[in-house]
Amino acid sequence: MRRWSQKEKKILKNHFTNLNDNVFGLVNLPEVIKGTLFSRYSRSGKNLRRLFLDEFWRHRELRHLWRQNTWKHLDVGRAEDFYERVLVGYGDNSVAELGGAHIALENISILATKPLEEHRLGLSFLEKSTRYVYFDRRDKNGDYLFYRPAEIMNSSFRDDYLRAVNLLFDTYSHLVRELQPKLKRLIPGDEKDPAYRFSIRAKACDLARPLLPLAALANMGIYANGRAFEYLITTLLAHPLDEVRKTALAMNRELRKIIPAFIKRATSEKGEVYRKYLQNRRWQLKPWQKQWQGKEIHKKPLVRMVDYDRSAESKILQLIAYSRSNLSYSELKRRLAKLTSRQKKQILRDYLAGRQNRFHKPGRALEEVYFSFEIVADWGVYKDLMRHRVLTRHHQTFTSGLGYRMPPYVEVAGFAKPYRRAMEVAAAAQQAIAKKMPVASQYLVNHGSINRFYIRLNLREAVHLVELRSQRQGHPWYREVAQEIGRQIKGKLPILGKIVFPFMDENDYELERLGAFRKLIAKAEKLGVVPLS
Ligand SMILES: Cc1cc2nc3c(=O)[nH]c(=O)nc-3n(C[C@H](O)[C@H](O)[C@H](O)COP(=O)(O)OP(=O)(O)OC[C@H]3O[C@@H](n4cnc5c(N)ncnc54)[C@H](O)[C@@H]3O)c2cc1C
Repeated sequence: MRRWSQKEKKILKNHFTNLNDNVFGLVNLPEVIKGTLFSRYSRSGKNLRRLFLDEFWRHRELRHLWRQNTWKHLDVGRAEDFYERVLVGYGDNSVAELGGAHIALENISILATKPLEEHRLGLSFLEKSTRYVYFDRRDKNGDYLFYRPAEIMNSSFRDDYLRAVNLLFDTYSHLVRELQPKLKRLIPGDEKDPAYRFSIRAKACDLARPLLPLAALANMGIYANGRAFEYLITTLLAHPLDEVRKTALAMNRELRKIIPAFIKRATSEKGEVYRKYLQNRRWQLKPWQKQWQGKEIHKKPLVRMVDYDRSAESKILQLIAYSRSNLSYSELKRRLAKLTSRQKKQILRDYLAGRQNRFHKPGRALEEVYFSFEIVADWGVYKDLMRHRVLTRHHQTFTSGLGYRMPPYVEVAGFAKPYRRAMEVAAAAQQAIAKKMPVASQYLVNHGSINRFYIRLNLREAVHLVELRSQRQGHPWYREVAQEIGRQIKGKLPILGKIVFPFMDENDYELERLGAFRKLIAKAEKLGVVPLS
């Protein structure tokens, strides 16, 4: 039991969740003080509460400020000096992970959210959903909410851009509202049931979503530690999109109000050197880029495994055994090679047994083997899958030049014609702008545009992704991709294939939808409400 004076108890109660336990939380403290206190663990024999009292609690004369809800009763300057010394002075980066901040970004284009979300470690994102929220609001001048890149606005493409984006939004707005009464007739339910009404609305959002251009404005929240923010800002400042660089500067400005000590180097000379390195790399590869262009049209979405580990199961077996053995890696490998295939099968089965639902993660031995895929799918699939932080992913410059997808329901409900027209007008404008401004032209790509991307993932992440993204509530187009990834991986694992994805939803909704599609047409014709186009 620690001994605190009455006065100390009063102070500590405001900043620690208990006074005497060995496990406690820190509350009502600036991030910089929490970070400094934690980093003092590595250099001090004192306990944390004692360090706080000795080093950060200011004197009696300032106690009245404490009641005014300010930090003035704390020695924040001392903590900031500490950060200056260890980060800027010694380059001891890990201490910048000991504090974090929440940052809200509003009215950012969907395109600009991606370079942020492509960062992984130490960051958590939440983005306004295109699957549940309407994107057809207008500002007080009656304009749709979309980004107008200066580069295009000041060029001869201005009118083409505005015409195409407005047409996409007009068609989106029409569809997202007008589809709902038709869907209610096609898929009847209890109108009084809010779950039914909500699912009709969500279905309409999903069906209209392919029309949404990447210029559409979204909102996003980021929670991250200081080190992750500093790296994020440093690299975003070298990004080719002007909007992304401006967003990075604004984030830097606001974070300086919350965690200034943690992000100092993003805009320092050190950050500048890093940015130059990134920009130079881009320029050095530019001459090669010309040799890597061509025209290949994909008529259909596809998932193709382009690389896999041929000895995947032996490697997993080796790792399962390794942490349970006292032998060297090579001796163990020699012994495992002598096992019969029946014994190997049994070990792998025992290792994967017992998962009761998809939240029960399989063991880390599955991280030993990797699979790579090229995915050719609508942009919306990229948007949803790139969020998986454990993946390695690479995308090409977004384009509308590879065609687009149309949900069958849009056709059934009689909206195929305006849908096609909007897609084709936008694709023509995007392709014309791309010849001069490939980076800015991406604002005109929409969620339904077919794009190519590459992902590489280990088997443990594949279990997470395949099982999560094949669930019924997922978007049908990424469900197809997740199921295909699952099937192709299973095909390469003779033993594990049968047991590795027990919670993958393998229902052939494509066929079911085909059946449902036929029924819908029959129903539509009978009701006479939805002409087929
Ligand atoms: C039906 C559905 C609806 C969705 N709707 C939205 C939406 O409206 N808006 C939106 O922004 N996103 C939405 N998402 C995406 C979701 O928020 C995640 O971004 C996405 O699922 C990838 O993250 P993950 O944590 O599942 O997996 P990964 O990022 O692949 O991570 C794998 C696992 O590693 C662990 N992990 C990874 N990073 C961290 C970390 N920083 N801290 C703690 N643990 C970590 C977790 O256990 C995680 O499950 C939706 C997803 C689904 C399936």
